[in-house]
Amino acid sequence: MKVFKFGGASVKNADAIRNMCNIISNHSGEKLVVVISAMGKTTNALEAVIAAKLNNRDTEEEIGTIYNYHHTICSELFDENDSIFTTVSEIFDDLRHELVQNYEYNQLYDQIVSKGELISTRIIAAYLNKKNCNAEWLDAREYIRTDNNFREGRIDWRLTEELIRHDIAQKAEDNILITQGFIGRSENNFTTTLGREGSDFTAAIFASCLTAESVTVWKDVPGILNADPKVIPDAILFDELPYKEAAEMTYYGASVIHPKTIKPLANKGIPLYVRSFDHPDEPGTIIHDCKLKVLPPTIIIKNDQCLVSFKVIDYTFINEENLSLIFKSLSEIDMKINIMQNSAISFSIVVDYEFNKLERLLESLKSHFDIRYNTGLKLITVKNYAQEILNKYRNDQRILLEQISRNNYRALIAP
Ligand code: ASP
Ligand code: MG
Repeated sequence: MKVFKFGGASVKNADAIRNMCNIISNHSGEKLVVVISAMGKTTNALEAVIAAKLNNRDTEEEIGTIYNYHHTICSELFDENDSIFTTVSEIFDDLRHELVQNYEYNQLYDQIVSKGELISTRIIAAYLNKKNCNAEWLDAREYIRTDNNFREGRIDWRLTEELIRHDIAQKAEDNILITQGFIGRSENNFTTTLGREGSDFTAAIFASCLTAESVTVWKDVPGILNADPKVIPDAILFDELPYKEAAEMTYYGASVIHPKTIKPLANKGIPLYVRSFDHPDEPGTIIHDCKLKVLPPTIIIKNDQCLVSFKVIDYTFINEENLSLIFKSLSEIDMKINIMQNSAISFSIVVDYEFNKLERLLESLKSHFDIRYNTGLKLITVKNYAQEILNKYRNDQRILLEQISRNNYRALIAP
């Protein structure tokens, strides 16, 4: 059994979907679970629907944009009377129905954004069948079970493993299995999501529960490089990487794989391939149990960062009590700190700018601190740095915050 994962970029238009289906049909002799994200930037577009609703605006314009995008793709892939058009329309009816329910904010978020994956997998499963590549559409929520923590559902591993083991291997005998990344079902039977970009994690969950032979994440890059080739043209491609090194890279923000992906695979010794969907014959990078003699400097850039500074209001110093208030709020809102620093009277953190989370953090702590924040920042991490690289980065006048340890250099840069 193998697990493939295709992200939004690999299914962003009709040509991309045809290419992806070619890759899948080249493996049609194998037992395969294929985990797929929403098409292109659909998740962001669905967030815009929620934003409109929260601002008491009419949501039809935002919904229409998403509908037209998928409709155009379907028109290129199917005949006009194909039943896929009804299937997709029904998901949009469902979306409108969910929008008027009386949900709390995070619950609403998950019921709405999950539609992106449901639509994409319906379209792709139908297209594969049309091309005579037998595919079965599976609802990932029947397998991936979480607690009731919306937007960052925590996996119930025991139940999930039981459900996956129950019938996936057998179903894979007859058909290629197509399912959604990113989504699960809560104890209370609502849809949950696993955190933005969480489809890689879904692939790792299926693989771990099935003790799969491997996971392959198909990307728009040739594999894992030591820098973004769009920024640093002479970036080098890793042929292989140890699990630990890859996990650390994802922690610092290497967007090539989701941070939660490595652990379940490493625990079972399942290799993870990162390969190019544009050059499917090339081997890409394999993440597995190995040792590298030298680790070249690796540059990781995380965009859309937000620096939040909490200043004590009275003349006390930042102390454990203040800190615990801040950490408690962060943990309740599921915000992760990417870097932190304190002075006598203020504590600063750098976090990802995530839809509507910062607002909630400010709201929950404004009576305790004077809070300032900047958005649109860039966090650079140089892992295993060499001196000449440091010199290059440290001269930047726009550095707002800087940290250096024996192996890693990190700097927060203003726009
Ligand atoms: N569609 C979701 C997102 O954009 C999950 C994923 O792509 O992995 O965050
Ligand atoms: Mg994605």
